[in-house]
Amino acid sequence: MLNKAFAAAGAAAWGGLPFSELAADMTEAAVEKATALCPNPRTVLVAAFPYYAGDRPGNLSLYARGRDYHQVVTGKLNTICDILREKYENEVFLPAADNSPLPERQAAWRSGIGLRGKNGLVILPPYGSYVFLGTILTDAALDLPPRTPSAHCVGCGKCLTACPGGALGEDGVNLSRCLSELTQKKGELTGEEAGLVKAHPLIWGCDTCQRVCPYNAHPALSPLPEFREDLVDALDRADLEGLTNRTFRDKYGDRAFAWRGPAPLRRNLELKKSM
Ligand code: SF4
Ligand code: SF4
Repeated sequence: MLNKAFAAAGAAAWGGLPFSELAADMTEAAVEKATALCPNPRTVLVAAFPYYAGDRPGNLSLYARGRDYHQVVTGKLNTICDILREKYENEVFLPAADNSPLPERQAAWRSGIGLRGKNGLVILPPYGSYVFLGTILTDAALDLPPRTPSAHCVGCGKCLTACPGGALGEDGVNLSRCLSELTQKKGELTGEEAGLVKAHPLIWGCDTCQRVCPYNAHPALSPLPEFREDLVDALDRADLEGLTNRTFRDKYGDRAFAWRGPAPLRRNLELKKSM
């Protein structure tokens, strides 16, 4: 039943694991948050949704060009929750995408979805690392498919060498130096952070450790129209001119780059201007 449901929702892979196992990768605070949402959590389902739409010029990260994955993936997972709710009337099913206390990548790797990239990402051939992850948290004890934890990538090290912020190491990602974080940071950047953003071609996100990865050399296109059509590849100052927070949200509220409002995008564009 779940195989069909995840395939119908557009997931390229799915899996699941007991919450107690994933809790080993979570802080105490994250476990408390998850338990507040779902008392007696038993099972975590995790799924990967491809988003690659081709390589077109632009200044936004590829993940941010289509419809906001938080909304799209959560909606798709909710269709699976609806099916499960019919069968398990008294249980809780909570869909989420990048906005829950659950560590999605660890859930994917522990479930055997894709490979563990040295760049900290889930790599799922033939889609490469261009996949969004989403989870369903439940207090139901579901029958799960057999799983073997994900293998590591080939470990070529290209992502470590290419990382413009020096954010990648053998231990993972140092978020304080990661351009994906810095371009989204609110308020003032330090001189060093501003220098990194200024030197990078994108005003939102980074993509460098994905672009250099051999698994992303010829990624398969996403089958999902939400991530393939009606793309916003780039923003310039004119696109943002005169917009208040509210009118910005009216115009771009269905995009993943909108959640911080227009201020970081304007700041990043100004930094490019001063190059
Ligand atoms: S997203 Fe960019 S800055 Fe962040 S780890 Fe990857 S290459 Fe480095
Ligand atoms: S670039 Fe090489 S080391 Fe980095 S994630 Fe890809 S395969 Fe692994």
